[in-house]
Amino acid sequence: MRFETFGINSFNEEMMQKRLPHPIYVKWQETIRKKDALDQNTADAIAHAMKEWAIEKGCTHYSHWFQPLNGLTAEKHEAFIDCKEGKPLICFSGKELIKGEPDASSFPSGGLRATFEARGYTYWDCSSYAFIRDKTLFIPTIFLSFNGESLDLKTPLLRSVAAISKEATALYNLLCEEKIEEVIPHVGLEQEYFLVDRDLFLKRRDLVLTGHTLFGSLPPKAQELESHYFGSIPQRVQSFMEEVDEELWKLGIYAKSEHNEVAPAQFEIAPIFCNVNVAVDQNQIIMEVLQKIALKHNLVCLLHEKPFKNINGSGKHNNWSLITDRGKNLLELPENFKEDQTFIVFLAAIIKAIDEHAELIRLGSSNVGNDYRLGGSEAPPSIVSMFLGKPLEDYLLDLVSGNKTKDHQIDKIKLDFLTEVPFDFADRNRTSPVAFTGNKIEFRMLGSSMNAATFNTYINTIVAHSLKEIRNELAPFKDRVSLKNATLDLCKTIIKKHQKVLFNGDGYSSKWIEEAKKRKLPNIKNFFEAINYLTLDKNEKIFIEQKVFSKAELSARKEVLLENHNKLQLIDIKTVLLCLYRDILPKLNREIKEIPDYDFRHEMFQETVKQLLEKAQQLEKLLENSDSDNQQELGNKIIIELLPLKEDIRKLYDKVEDKISDENLPFPTYMDYFFGLDS
Ligand code: ADP
Ligand code: MG
Repeated sequence: MRFETFGINSFNEEMMQKRLPHPIYVKWQETIRKKDALDQNTADAIAHAMKEWAIEKGCTHYSHWFQPLNGLTAEKHEAFIDCKEGKPLICFSGKELIKGEPDASSFPSGGLRATFEARGYTYWDCSSYAFIRDKTLFIPTIFLSFNGESLDLKTPLLRSVAAISKEATALYNLLCEEKIEEVIPHVGLEQEYFLVDRDLFLKRRDLVLTGHTLFGSLPPKAQELESHYFGSIPQRVQSFMEEVDEELWKLGIYAKSEHNEVAPAQFEIAPIFCNVNVAVDQNQIIMEVLQKIALKHNLVCLLHEKPFKNINGSGKHNNWSLITDRGKNLLELPENFKEDQTFIVFLAAIIKAIDEHAELIRLGSSNVGNDYRLGGSEAPPSIVSMFLGKPLEDYLLDLVSGNKTKDHQIDKIKLDFLTEVPFDFADRNRTSPVAFTGNKIEFRMLGSSMNAATFNTYINTIVAHSLKEIRNELAPFKDRVSLKNATLDLCKTIIKKHQKVLFNGDGYSSKWIEEAKKRKLPNIKNFFEAINYLTLDKNEKIFIEQKVFSKAELSARKEVLLENHNKLQLIDIKTVLLCLYRDILPKLNREIKEIPDYDFRHEMFQETVKQLLEKAQQLEKLLENSDSDNQQELGNKIIIELLPLKEDIRKLYDKVEDKISDENLPFPTYMDYFFGLDS
């Protein structure tokens, strides 16, 4: 691997220091720290240096790069070249660096922007570095409407960072002697994905159109197949991973591809954590790079949450921590955690936030694809609970109960804890959707294909709100001693009220579902149901209070989520019918013709075809009548009426798939994909 090329395609801090006049570099740093706007001179000077750098590296174009509400990334390419008095001229000004004006009308806005005022503006987010890919200089930007309402996922994220930074700093400064100016959420995103052979990929319409299989059953020896498969990494995958790592390193992303041992053909890549804003950008880049490089190896990278039924799906573990401007991680478990009130109070704030706003954690992690994964007994359940590790949970619960024997107990536990598993919680409970892992909170529900901005926006906001409420309670206590006592009392009250969200047991078990019901924890069935919680009073209130979303932005976002849900569900449903008519039925009919009457399969396939046609006809009828402008109504109809039929059709085919002869299989089977990488 070529470490010397690390970061050569990123206009990062080091590059800026090298290429900018010193006063300009200092100005840029100050701008970031104070979160000011860049002045014209500084912007021009940075634009100039950036352009020189990009052109030296062979770039011809630049592009404002942004993350619209559809969760993808968008780019509008402009040439550096302009024409002045009939002569070509290379130009790129500070104005062009800072502000762009893409035609916004083709991006979803949830009604925020009428088509007649289709203009939207992109503004450079100068805290995220510009980078070069494919001879284009990419400038990370936010995307706003003419009226300054946000039309993207990054703007609210940046606002939520400001909110949590403000609240965490205030509470920290209230409690600690040391004074700080900033607390920044840091995030490390582990990205799971599948690789399939491209020729095989093209043979299935469901994969091509929806990114996951809508039909197909497991091969009879799935388990053995897995262990067999993991004997060695196919050469193709090996060279794919090397190229991915190298490309990402050039972009200044510290990532490491790894073989993942969960499902056949499934892998994982994780970069080193950094501030949440950059982490989200990097994750978008990683997903793009995975997909592009895969094609070069005649592979396709599937980012869908559930490419194969009954096989482990893909997620994006969101590791989250709070780090002060002095470099202290507020979630680092202190050795003497019982005496460290700051640690305990921040942890209590997070527990409170997660319990009070579990619906937002559910919603922020959800999309149509993740509905196949969450709660599927192989991924985090859809009930939000939190795993702390036994010693910590015991300590907090003892704190609440005030148990007289507790001192003794805790000492013992602490001893065990320090000797047996020192500060490493990582692998102790994989069934928990939220886990404290020693120095960070690992949120495990997020879907693999999702843009991580929204999830982190929610987390930052709910924790900011929780910290604020805690500070309000503690602010009246002026002297150290009474403040200390009040803090401990408040922590007790919080844990007592919210201990119902703590759970150390097996999150996959059916007992837990019963237990969670008793504890009155929400068990939201699917993405569609979760969407309504976005504008629930208690959630709306904190988004507005923390200045993350305006009321109008929130309802626009809800509309976009509903539309997105319905569109994707309908694509799945229509694809099921397409596969059925074009692939499955013709092949099954041929199979019936070729099978002699005495073979029991003859009648069986006839029966299957009959039932498939009945279900398809019902589905067609319902589809015809589902032209509703009311997205809520349409969504209801999809969930209640259409989806069960779609699943029935799948089940009918899956049940007979392994009895179809090779000649008449409508498309490649799961087995082909799990083995397909070896060739
Ligand atoms: P796992 O056991 O789940 O593989 P790792 O310790 O390897 O966990 O870390 C997974 C991810 O968490 C990596 O992206 C890593 O950079 C990130 N990470 C580590 N420390 C922190 C932290 N303090 N804050 C946020 N993310 C972190
Ligand atoms: Mg993990």
